[in-house]
Amino acid sequence: MQVFKFGGASVKDADGVKNLGKIVQSAQGRLWVVVSAMGKTTNALEAVLQSWHGGDTPVALQLLSGIKQQHHLIIRNSFEGLACEPVINDVNEFFTALEQRLKEGPSDNYNYNYDLVVSLGELVSTRIVYQYIKYLKIKTTWVDAGKIIRSDNRYREAKVDWQITEAKCKSFLKDHDAEVLVTQGFIAQTAEGQRTTLGREGSDYSAAIIAYASKAEKVTIWKDVPGLLNADPRKFEDTVILPEISYKEALELSYYGASVIHPKTIKPLQNRSIPLFIRPFNDIQAEGTKIFHQDIYDNQHPSFIIKEQQVLLSLSTRDFSFIEEQQLHEIFDCFSTHGLKSNLMQNSAISFSVVVDAAGLSSGLISELQEHYKVLYNEKVSLITIRHYTAEVVERLTKGKRILVEQKTRFTARFVCSDASA
Ligand code: ASP
Ligand code: MG
Repeated sequence: MQVFKFGGASVKDADGVKNLGKIVQSAQGRLWVVVSAMGKTTNALEAVLQSWHGGDTPVALQLLSGIKQQHHLIIRNSFEGLACEPVINDVNEFFTALEQRLKEGPSDNYNYNYDLVVSLGELVSTRIVYQYIKYLKIKTTWVDAGKIIRSDNRYREAKVDWQITEAKCKSFLKDHDAEVLVTQGFIAQTAEGQRTTLGREGSDYSAAIIAYASKAEKVTIWKDVPGLLNADPRKFEDTVILPEISYKEALELSYYGASVIHPKTIKPLQNRSIPLFIRPFNDIQAEGTKIFHQDIYDNQHPSFIIKEQQVLLSLSTRDFSFIEEQQLHEIFDCFSTHGLKSNLMQNSAISFSVVVDAAGLSSGLISELQEHYKVLYNEKVSLITIRHYTAEVVERLTKGKRILVEQKTRFTARFVCSDASA
């Protein structure tokens, strides 16, 4: 048993669906196929939700109809001739069910409504993929991920119940003997049968959950990149693929902001020693990256991650007393209430500095902090993280910049920088 995961970019159009078909055909043995919503469907469904929740159901329905047309187009370009119609009818059932629900009006729980609306993306993408695999004459089954992944009811950030999920997966596999089992990334279900989601970009995590629960031999994430690279190829020309790295290294890289894999993906796989492969979906022969227990290759290339649009907040007490545990407790309590995450922190006797995403800062949070602290902030700073740093890479990345904060451990160097002119 192995698990293949295809992200939104891999199934954004009919070519993607056909390519997925080829990859599935080339696989040996039993296979889970975990698929995200097609292209940018999740964002489009978020817009449906906004209109619906904002009281404009006609606009919500109109936006939903646009999404339906896009899916019809992908179906028409994937299946030939008469084979399209049954697939169109099939996905229409899912669209109609949501249309009906939208007409009834939203509940008061925004996050509950979110999961209800946004999960449609994965449901319809997997119906299309399932029908396509069947069309290729491969024995296949479709299952609603809600029937195999059990979560609590923290809508939009649901937590998995591992024991029940494992039992459900096991019994599903016993009852179904199809070669290819198609299911959705990102979505799950509560004990009461309510729809939940696992957090944006959560489909990688779903693949790991399913692999863990079905004790799979390996997981492959098919992506629009050649593998895990040592830096973002949109920002650097001389990136290299990391051919083999350890779970720990992958965890660290995703934690610091490498966006190739969802950070939650690694741990369940590591716990069962299931290797994870990141491979390019447009080049089946290419080997990509293998993530597993060996750490001997981790330090072969420095990797760097740059987070832009950061703000460096510096807090000091108004009476120049020390910043101690009680103050830190209050500060983090305030962060947690406002849903703000810290990307780096540093403290001295009378001040505490923390780097956060500019987008997460609100005036409410600042004024709450200002009640007790003097708050200074440097805007437009960037946070540079270098794993396995060398003097040469540090020099190259910080050149011409003013370093505001610097932190080094044995393997990781981090710099909060602004432009020297700023
Ligand atoms: N479709 C979801 C999202 O765009 C989950 C995923 O793509 O992993 O966030
Ligand atoms: Mg996605």
